[in-house]
Amino acid sequence: MVQASKKLSPKPVRRLKRLSARERWLAVLERFSRGLDEPQSAQIWAPALERASRARIVEIQEEKLRALMPFLYEESAFYRERMRAAKLTPSDIRSIGDLPKFPVVTKESMATNVAAYPPWGTYTTVDQKTWRSRGWMVFSTSGTTTTPRSFRYTKVDARLWAITSARALYAMGLRAGDSALTCTNYNPHVFFWSLHYALNLMKVAIVPGGVPTERRLAMIDLYRPTVLVATPSYALHLAVALRNAGSDPRRSSIRKVICGGEAASGIPSTRRRIEEAWDAELHDVYGCTEAVPAGWAFTCRQGLSATPVSTHVQEDLQIWELVDPQTLEPVGPGQRGLTVVTNLNSEGSPQLRFLVGDFTSFDTRRCACGRSFARAVGGFMGRADDLLNIRGLKLFPSAIEEIVRGIDSLDDEFQIVIETEGVLDAFTIVTEARTSMDVDAVVEVTRRLEAEVIRRCELRPRIRIEAPGTLPRTEFKARRVIDRRVGL
Ligand SMILES: [Zn+2]
Repeated sequence: MVQASKKLSPKPVRRLKRLSARERWLAVLERFSRGLDEPQSAQIWAPALERASRARIVEIQEEKLRALMPFLYEESAFYRERMRAAKLTPSDIRSIGDLPKFPVVTKESMATNVAAYPPWGTYTTVDQKTWRSRGWMVFSTSGTTTTPRSFRYTKVDARLWAITSARALYAMGLRAGDSALTCTNYNPHVFFWSLHYALNLMKVAIVPGGVPTERRLAMIDLYRPTVLVATPSYALHLAVALRNAGSDPRRSSIRKVICGGEAASGIPSTRRRIEEAWDAELHDVYGCTEAVPAGWAFTCRQGLSATPVSTHVQEDLQIWELVDPQTLEPVGPGQRGLTVVTNLNSEGSPQLRFLVGDFTSFDTRRCACGRSFARAVGGFMGRADDLLNIRGLKLFPSAIEEIVRGIDSLDDEFQIVIETEGVLDAFTIVTEARTSMDVDAVVEVTRRLEAEVIRRCELRPRIRIEAPGTLPRTEFKARRVIDRRVGL
C-alpha cells in the first residue's frame, strides 16, 4: 500500500509591511480629515475638532507631531541637519513641551538653504518622484535679486487646503448659495488659492475678478456677488472707484468683505472704513506662505463683535507658540511674543517651529462661538520684519495707518518716507486729502495728524497732504514705507 505522501500546503506567511515615515504621516493626515469634505453642523464645519477640549487638542497635536518628526527627518535634508546639529533624533520631540529643544527656523535660514540648493532648497518634503506622481502647485516668495523661496505642494495638500480653509470661511458665515468676487489675477499668492478651492468645496460660486477695476465694477452690478475678496487696501480703493462711477457701494450686493495679505480687523480705523464703505461685515485671515498657506487663522463673528477683536488659530492643524523677540525663547502663558508655528496640515511643507514673527498674545478660553481654538487678542497688527527703527524708537507702520484712517478728512492711502538728514532720521508722513481742501483746512489737519503721531508714537513727523488720488493704489500688498536712509 502506497501511502500518499502528505503534502503540506505552505503556511501563509503574513508579512507585516513596514510603513515608511511618509506613509505613516499621510495616514495621520487622512485620518484627521476623513469625512470632513462637507460641514458637520449648521454653525461649525468640524465640531469634533473645533470644539474639542484643550486636553483633546493637545492629544491631537502630539499624535501628529510624533508622525511628523520621522517624516521631516527622512524627507528633508534641511531638518535632518538641524536636528543633528541640535543633537536630536526624531524621538526626542514627542510632546509640546519638547518643542523648544529644536531652534526656531527663520526665513533667512530658508533663504540660505535655497541659495545653496536651487531651485527648491531642502526645507520641503516633496522629492522629484512625489512631484512627478502627484504634484499640484508651486508657490513662491518674490525673489528678483535672490533665489525665491519655493514651496511645492501635492494633491494631498489640495484637499487639505480646501477642507481647512472652508472651516474658516464657514465661521465667517459663508454658506452654499453665496457668490464671491475674487479680486486677484493668476498669481502665486497662497491666500487666494486656498480660498478658491475652499469656495469650490463649499458650493459658493466664484466670479473670477482677474480683470481691470472698471470691469470689476460692472461685475458687481451684473452678477450681484454677496462676498468681496481683496486686500484691505484694494477693498477701500474699489469702493471709491464704485462711487466715482456713480454707484453707491453701500447699496451694492456685497454683504461680506474677506481680506487677506495685510492686517485688517486688527486695525480699528481700517476696519471701520471698509465696513462703512460697503455697509458689509469685514473678516480677515492670517497665515504665511511658508507654513500656514491654508487652514489660516480667522475671525469668527463673535470674536469680531468683542473689543478688542480676536482671531482664532486652528490648533488641530498647527501648534502655535509665542517667543521673546530677543532670545527666541518661549514666553509665559498670556504674555505677548512673536508667533512661531509648526504646521501639522501638509504633505509638501510641514514646517517645524517656523518664526512667522507677529506680535500677539493668546487667550485659550473657549470663545462665545463655541470654538475652543486659542484666539490672538487684538488680532494681528504687523510682522516684526516691518518694525521700523526711527531715531531709536520702534514704530509699526500699522500704527500710522490706524491714525491716518481715523481722520475722516484724509483719504485711505499714505506713505512713510524716512531719509537721512545730517546724523538724524527725517520722518515724513505723506497722506491725501479726501476732497480738495483750502489752506486753513490743510493747516488744521496737519496739526491734528502731527499731534496724534507724537501722542501715540512719541515721534515728531513732517506731514505732507497731497491732492486726492496722488498716491499709488495696488491690488496686492501696498508699499507704504520708503526708507532712503544712507547705509540701509
Ligand atoms: Zn470664536
